Amino acid sequence: MLSIGPQLQSRLESGAPSVLLCREAGWVPLEHHVTLEAAQAARDRYARFAPVLGELFAEQGWDGVISSPLREFKGEHPSGARVLVKCDHELPLTGTIKARGGVYEVLCLVEELATKAGLLDDRSDLMALLLPEAKEMLAQTRVLVASTGNLAYSIGLAARAFGMNAEVHMSQDAKEWKKRRLRQMGVDVVEHAGDFGLALHAARDAARSDSRSYLIDDEESPTLKVGYSAGAWELAAQLEGMGVTVDASHPLFVYLPCGVGGAGGGVTFGLKKIFGPHAKCIFVEPIASAAMYLALGERGWETPPSVFDAGLDNRTIADGLAVGKVSELVVKEIGHCIDGVVALPDRHLLHWVEEAWRTQGLRLEPAAAAGLAAIAPYTQALASGIDQHAWHDLFHNGTHVAWTTGGSQLPDAEFSELLAQTTG
Ligand SMILES: *Cc1c(COP(=O)(O)O)cnc(C)c1O
Repeated sequence: MLSIGPQLQSRLESGAPSVLLCREAGWVPLEHHVTLEAAQAARDRYARFAPVLGELFAEQGWDGVISSPLREFKGEHPSGARVLVKCDHELPLTGTIKARGGVYEVLCLVEELATKAGLLDDRSDLMALLLPEAKEMLAQTRVLVASTGNLAYSIGLAARAFGMNAEVHMSQDAKEWKKRRLRQMGVDVVEHAGDFGLALHAARDAARSDSRSYLIDDEESPTLKVGYSAGAWELAAQLEGMGVTVDASHPLFVYLPCGVGGAGGGVTFGLKKIFGPHAKCIFVEPIASAAMYLALGERGWETPPSVFDAGLDNRTIADGLAVGKVSELVVKEIGHCIDGVVALPDRHLLHWVEEAWRTQGLRLEPAAAAGLAAIAPYTQALASGIDQHAWHDLFHNGTHVAWTTGGSQLPDAEFSELLAQTTG
């Protein structure tokens, strides 16, 4: 058993929301792997690839631009705060935040392979990637990934569109409809009886034994995090467009659902670069998978602790967050910039799936509802221990953004079942 502090342990075991406040959080990421330069290159690459993606997905009516709306929360949020919703659950085609990181790494790979093969002499014109000879060349590569469902879909979709083969290793949490939809795209789906950690090991083994394969490693890949970071710049532009000020007396609180921490880590990187200490990044996890909570609450570990060592079982209704150990890269380079972690019981996630649907018309999967569910517990915890006047100003001048990370593509039957669980 991991000797997590008795306080952490009992808080997590209580089954009530637990909040870890990192009051001393910094705002300067280490930039060993995820760098400002790479983040800028990612935004350029997305722009250069948009016409190609638009062409590949013309039938589906997508223009190739990866961006999602920022919406005002309708009515009053129970926390009393001003809440905006960053609707990545509405991202085109994939309907999850994984489109940012997963698709990005596929684009990098495609460009690299095509350049090596001499198919792209002019990088400003990527349309050559649509020619039959490019597809033929790319068909020799097999992209591998381990996933609880959503990462596999984004990567499978992009890889197949460019003509590559894709093999996904799915954990036990992966939903049937997510596997079915992958098989329909011609992706090889390998099912595992264990959790995400086990599926990841299997994918790494498979990649090692095949020289034509390329593994997109959810834990270790810096490229994924760099891809996610583009979301931060997109949010900043949208806030500016809405006239939202972010400064010392108008902090921005952003609530990010966390699995391995790559999506939130990439976004946190960008937000701290843009807003410095005025952006507060809060990661949100189901209690059963509270791996970031453990990693930041406990110091002195060699590799991030696993939830199993803390007596948690990594079983949660939020399949996108069912991860027992966070990315070491994220904790080491960006972890000190995380301002707080909220661990929530599944019933709170389900409650917010229903609430978001009924009051906002947002179709969310449980993982994606985590941000909305975390605002009240986080702001309450933050209020204790600071001067009431200071708190009042902070709270009322601040803007709270819940990042809704997936769900618009949930089939009706799946969604009704989720809603039934909240009332049943
Ligand atoms: C993957 C995922 C996340 C979290 O991303 P990580 O990089 O694993 O932290 C959040 N929400 C949904 C819906 C996801 O699929």
